[in-house]
Amino acid sequence: MVMNNVTDMSKNASPLELVDLKKPFPGKNEILVRISVCGVCHTELDEIEGRTPPPSFPVVPGHQVVGFVEKTGEGAGRFKTGDRVGIGWIYSSCGKCEYCLSGDDNLCPEFRATGRDVNGGYAEYISIPENSAFLIPEKFTDAEAAPLLCAGAIGYRSVRLTGITNGKKLGLTGFGASGHLVLKMVRFMYPDTEVYVFARSERERYFALDLGAVWAGDTEDKSPEKLDGIIDTTPVWKPVLEAMRNLSPGGRLVVNAIRKEDIDKDYLLNLDYPVHLWMEKEIKSVANVSRRDIDEFLKLAAEMNIKPEVTEYALEEANKALNELKDRRIRGAKILRILG
Ligand SMILES: [Zn+2]
Ligand SMILES: [Zn+2]
Repeated sequence: MVMNNVTDMSKNASPLELVDLKKPFPGKNEILVRISVCGVCHTELDEIEGRTPPPSFPVVPGHQVVGFVEKTGEGAGRFKTGDRVGIGWIYSSCGKCEYCLSGDDNLCPEFRATGRDVNGGYAEYISIPENSAFLIPEKFTDAEAAPLLCAGAIGYRSVRLTGITNGKKLGLTGFGASGHLVLKMVRFMYPDTEVYVFARSERERYFALDLGAVWAGDTEDKSPEKLDGIIDTTPVWKPVLEAMRNLSPGGRLVVNAIRKEDIDKDYLLNLDYPVHLWMEKEIKSVANVSRRDIDEFLKLAAEMNIKPEVTEYALEEANKALNELKDRRIRGAKILRILG
């Protein structure tokens, strides 16, 4: 399924086209993977609607890929034929810059994303540098593993970036799929850490308390305790500014969003330096995902026994899956089933 251009999905319900492509050939240090399933992510909507557009067309989207190694290219020795591997947003990086050498390969200036800068997983095959593929722990089915490769790994990175340790207090503003996963993850990784959730809907607040949050309030509410770290997963600005009032001295807010919407950008003019930033409070974004995050998160997910709820679609139903994702009609993760 390929994207041929940037388009407005409210006017064009079929942004992807089913075509026949040549089977890729694994180059040096690459592996050819026969794809079993590929997750459907919000980032595909951002690509299609031009918020993070691919540099060239046509391109195959999809960056939560699970499949089997079919062939190894020259010099590739990490995997053998038949191994089950997962592929996430990081397709390649230069391997030589200061970021690559320090493990922050997500920040490499030559970072290339699977399914945006190169062909991704809405297909039968993909060829990829072998160091960007990861063995999938046995306890997951292909379908269960796919959603872990994006939301899970990025959630894990956001937790890391807050800098919290066991016993520190963490806030989550926005409580969608990624928030649920982060809450479960933090409860497992840092059992003495209290989690405070800010969410607009009452249903989400009850759900947060059910999952073990110690407090849940509305986006503008003041938390009963100051927080050492806060993760924002909302698409807008008001929750960011409101949350910053609740940070402890030296606390950090991490924005986990590939793009923010501009609709309430004016709200940032309410920034009151002594209230929101004074006392060495920080704000930073989380960009992409590093190899280390995917590798560590897959192992953590297996220990935690996380099993995402998934809805399956056939490859040729990709447009339907994207429309349902946009309209939020069906809860849980969506995957395309390619190998039956
Ligand atoms: Zn994604
Ligand atoms: Zn680099």
